[in-house]
Amino acid sequence: MSDKEVVCKHCKRFVRGDKCPACNTKDFTKTWKGVVIVNEPNASEIAQIIGINAPGKYALWVK
Ligand SMILES: [Zn+2]
Repeated sequence: MSDKEVVCKHCKRFVRGDKCPACNTKDFTKTWKGVVIVNEPNASEIAQIIGINAPGKYALWVK
């Protein structure tokens, strides 16, 4: 088992494990740029710009 982080292609969330808890998919990428930590999505301008609505750690760009 690897604990290397991958990024979900759909919600851009960092995922540890074998499926995304938000999307329920295994559609991951290791090609990403930028990290944003969101604590309060409703109070975060950048979270709204990139369409985040749940707290967590996200990539800004994924391929
Ligand atoms: Zn996801």
